[in-house]
Amino acid sequence: MTDSLDQWLSAQLDIRKAQHRYRTRWLNSFPSSATPSSNVGSAVDFSGNDYLGLSKAPQVCEALAEGAKRYGASATASPLVGGYFDVHQRLEALISEWTQRPAALLFPTGFQANLGVLDALTHPASHCFHDRLNHASLLDGTRLSGAKSERYRHLDMIHLDKRMTAVSARQSEPQKVVISDAVFSMEGDIAPLQELADIAQQHAAWLVIDDAHGVGVLGKDGGGACVEAALSHKEVPVVIGTLSKALGGQGAFVAGSQALIDTLIQLARPYVFSTGLAPAQACAAEAAIHLCRDEPERRHQLHEVIHYFRAAAEAESLPLLPSRTPIQAIVTGDETRTLAIAESLKAQQLYVGAIRPPTVPIGKSRLRITLNATHTRQQIDRLVDHLAKALQEH
Ligand SMILES: *Cc1c(COP(=O)(O)O)cnc(C)c1O
Repeated sequence: MTDSLDQWLSAQLDIRKAQHRYRTRWLNSFPSSATPSSNVGSAVDFSGNDYLGLSKAPQVCEALAEGAKRYGASATASPLVGGYFDVHQRLEALISEWTQRPAALLFPTGFQANLGVLDALTHPASHCFHDRLNHASLLDGTRLSGAKSERYRHLDMIHLDKRMTAVSARQSEPQKVVISDAVFSMEGDIAPLQELADIAQQHAAWLVIDDAHGVGVLGKDGGGACVEAALSHKEVPVVIGTLSKALGGQGAFVAGSQALIDTLIQLARPYVFSTGLAPAQACAAEAAIHLCRDEPERRHQLHEVIHYFRAAAEAESLPLLPSRTPIQAIVTGDETRTLAIAESLKAQQLYVGAIRPPTVPIGKSRLRITLNATHTRQQIDRLVDHLAKALQEH
């Protein structure tokens, strides 16, 4: 029996090695002290999603430690069985105010939130329209429910409208659901939220927006892409955000009407059947959101870093994808070239993401550079300099 498993496993690994898509974990040796992650000796991290540097902010780390002292290390059970604490309640209220929605619900991770929302809201008779570059967890959510799904061309509202019209023409019209990342995680560009809301309304479709990379970064007080676009919960009825990117912690939320939240408590299986978000993590997120609101300088500094990076990269004619967010990508093409460039940067102690299929389409492997408020001009100059050299050499 184990022989056949071993054979199957090694065949799987061989396939990925032959495709240059074999993934290895790198040992992250940045110290876990309160030193900003991007600034340790000469090593500079351009791969994490800690856009405001909050994962190492003393106020956030202290809130986590205090939370652990008070509540222990775990929620110990599903929120329905006994894992719902006052800090969860406070954090949900804070998030609903911050994102300008009537209510919010916490999940242990963003991946679970997306699975839970889409499995709960769709069923085999629904018809889902995904942006082609949506996050894997959104696609998996509609796969799980058995809903019909199709993918429209990235950001292409004409294509989306055309496809929705075709589906509407059917005799028994299904419930349509439009699903999109707000900020695309491997590109850094932003969905046309107002147009999405208009098209969804015209077709009586529900709109689900995953704002994992917008919260903390965009909009008033960092309330996210929907706040920036001034779209209410009537226009975007379902917003998902993570506590694990700009907020520097772990966990996620769904925000929308009270009826949406009450329904998810009934139907979202990753909520019902999983241990709740650790209360200490909720304490950390609470502190992080307060910092987002009370200390806007971090966000201003981040946007300055983004501006500086783009200007420096453009001066070197680096082929950046369009993006005004902390996610900056350079499409390098095939897997081998992408890995070679990332390796040569790593040799200079510059860490950038080497993103390959199936995360991105075949032939569109890329370097994913993430910026954060703690990066210095000197570090960015060094990155741009080595990027230019590496792109030329490989
Ligand atoms: C990271 C990410 C998620 C998953 O969030 P986790 O909290 O890391 O599980 C979901 N959607 C998008 C767009 C993401 O980038």
